[in-house]
Amino acid sequence: MESGKLRSGEFGIITGIQKFTVHDGPGVRTMAFFKGCPLQCKWCQNPETWDIRPELLHNPGECIGCGKCVTACTKNAITIAEKSIKVSRDICNGCGDCTKTCYSGALKISGTYMTVDEVFDKLMEDEIFYKKSGGGITLSGGECTVQNEFAINLLKKLKRHKAHTAIETCGYCHWENFKGIIELADLVLFDIKVPFDEQSRVYTGHGNSLILENLRRISEMEKDIVIRFPLIPGVNDDKESLQAVADIAVRNNITRLNILPFHQAGTSKWQAIGRPYPFEDLEPPSDEKIDAALELFLSCGLDASEGGSKA
Ligand code: SF4
Ligand code: SF4
Repeated sequence: MESGKLRSGEFGIITGIQKFTVHDGPGVRTMAFFKGCPLQCKWCQNPETWDIRPELLHNPGECIGCGKCVTACTKNAITIAEKSIKVSRDICNGCGDCTKTCYSGALKISGTYMTVDEVFDKLMEDEIFYKKSGGGITLSGGECTVQNEFAINLLKKLKRHKAHTAIETCGYCHWENFKGIIELADLVLFDIKVPFDEQSRVYTGHGNSLILENLRRISEMEKDIVIRFPLIPGVNDDKESLQAVADIAVRNNITRLNILPFHQAGTSKWQAIGRPYPFEDLEPPSDEKIDAALELFLSCGLDASEGGSKA
């Protein structure tokens, strides 16, 4: 794939399309997950979406050590190691040839190049349910703004067909690339992962001043915004952090906030993508911690609830 085609928005790279979701905007929805993310949250449950290129996932639990993939790879990116295989990530280009010889299903490629029309057609298959339920389409990721031209082209086509559109965003995007997407979104699910700049640098890899400035600009556009707050034990579940998140919502005139409690549903993906997972042993927050966070947000006048499908 020529990078120019990605840059022009002719093609996008998508990790999945999920139908019948009910937590990511009103009504029944279909979600498109974009590949590529500017942040690297230490608790991420979708690390296979970080890199904007197709990537090989290897699940050792399903690998029978047959070695067929070793001969299939013309780049010599795979070697046999302890009844399984080792993928040299610096050599692998994600071509997917090895997956065709792996009958156990241990190898998969994350990320498929698709045109705007291909994604649109898939997303609109359930149009009848959107009409009946007041639902629509949600673009998520990864981070959909990383593929801003593709997102704009897709959103324009969805709007021409009168679909309700939502985006879920981490907010880390230059405004000139962000603005066009926001204009085409009926609803913005805006992640506030941590409220403080240094905390953001430590846990996501970037400070949050750009994120907060973007949130201010979006609220000035009087967009429908819901704050998404991943509740991560030991990171942002202290009273000072919770209060600071509530303050961010209040000063931007945002009333709705979803708490997304940390979970470990995506743990195996870290191993599959060959990255060390820093939060492997972290326990999800207790019900008491979730209730305490809810109580604090409600006491600040926010319409807070537990919900949303991504942490
Ligand atoms: S995806 Fe392609 S380059 Fe990577 S290991 Fe498989 S065959 Fe080799
Ligand atoms: S082809 Fe599949 S099952 Fe066989 S060694 Fe490779 S990854 Fe394992």
